[in-house]
Amino acid sequence: MCSHADAVDVDEVVAVYEPLTRTTVLSDRWRADHVADLSVLVHELVHHLQRETDAEHRCPEEGEALAYEAQERWLAQFGTSLEAAFGIDAFTLAMRTRCLW
Ligand SMILES: [Zn+2]
Repeated sequence: MCSHADAVDVDEVVAVYEPLTRTTVLSDRWRADHVADLSVLVHELVHHLQRETDAEHRCPEEGEALAYEAQERWLAQFGTSLEAAFGIDAFTLAMRTRCLW
């Protein structure tokens, strides 16, 4: 199964987008009243839009760039960031959003 998970580590996964079924699956730990959790949904919705528009990427990481950008903008509205909410600093973000080969 092709799946996509976004989190600092596997124990913290709160959402997974399944492109084959076009479904975002939320874990039992996902909370609608938690800004960081909502931002993960924003991130996964970008992946859904990429899937629906047949967006092409040279590598999976390239598709992450727009998803993280939308997530960062969402978080900024609430005075937080990827780094503050998830510990995703500039280096980590670069590693997650650039084709390495
Ligand atoms: Zn992603």
